[in-house]
Amino acid sequence: MADILEVAGLTKRFGGLVAVSDVRFSVREREILSVIGPNGAGKSTLFKLIASFLRPTAGEVRFKGERISGLAPHIVARRGVVRTFQETTIFRNMSVRDNVVTAHHLRSRASLAGFYFGTATARQDLEAFGNSADEILAFLGLASMRHEIASTLPHGHLRALGIAIGLATGPAVILLDEPFAGMNRDETRRAVELVRKVRERGITVLLVEHDMTAVMNISDRIVVLNFGQKIAEGVPAEIQRNPKVIEAYLGAEDESIGK
Ligand code: ADP
Ligand code: MG
Repeated sequence: MADILEVAGLTKRFGGLVAVSDVRFSVREREILSVIGPNGAGKSTLFKLIASFLRPTAGEVRFKGERISGLAPHIVARRGVVRTFQETTIFRNMSVRDNVVTAHHLRSRASLAGFYFGTATARQDLEAFGNSADEILAFLGLASMRHEIASTLPHGHLRALGIAIGLATGPAVILLDEPFAGMNRDETRRAVELVRKVRERGITVLLVEHDMTAVMNISDRIVVLNFGQKIAEGVPAEIQRNPKVIEAYLGAEDESIGK
């Protein structure tokens, strides 16, 4: 499969701290690639760099061969590289369905103003967005909750809504930063299935996740960061027996790798 994303010598400094240090790897189209590493290893910073929420100190990210680093995050999202919206960016007082309809505006031909002034393009889009939102909600098992107010959803469903909002923007690559955090075992199992289904739609998935059982289960390949540097890359079985990876995790007190 072709490479869809290239991370080329990415470095991010915060003052004297090098949070991400000369990291390079490629992501193949339609793969599920996880980034793991102890707390503070630079995983979230790496995702923010990829989605252009942060500007790299050095290096660049290429999407389909073109540099996207330095572009505004909404431009990068419109091109198809979308970092999932955290719960805080869900409109909590809006219905589940309206949240997903609203997210479609990101790829709209019409401006937001068009919706308020009722232009023809905007009206057509609104109908198409509604249909698409219903399809996404059904796909994610949220159809029966579409008229609920977002703030009333249980935790697991809120995460699913976050993914629905991400999907509504029509991504080619979706970046999920700890989507299973705070979920119990059943919720996690269900969410892992959702991530698989997202990939079945042809979407490339980049995942940061602490739940090692889930990571080993779902990932095609894994990149391991420690103190901002890539220390390993490979399929789950290789990563699980890599001495450098085991050492990095043993060095951290509160984490473990394996089943
Ligand atoms: P991870 O997601 O792997 O836990 P982060 O990418 O959040 O790690 O953080 C990597 C390092 O960069 C940490 O030492 C963190 O304190 C630091 N860091 C992250 N964001 C900032 C920031 N905006 N300003 C200063 N330091 C930061
Ligand atoms: Mg993080």
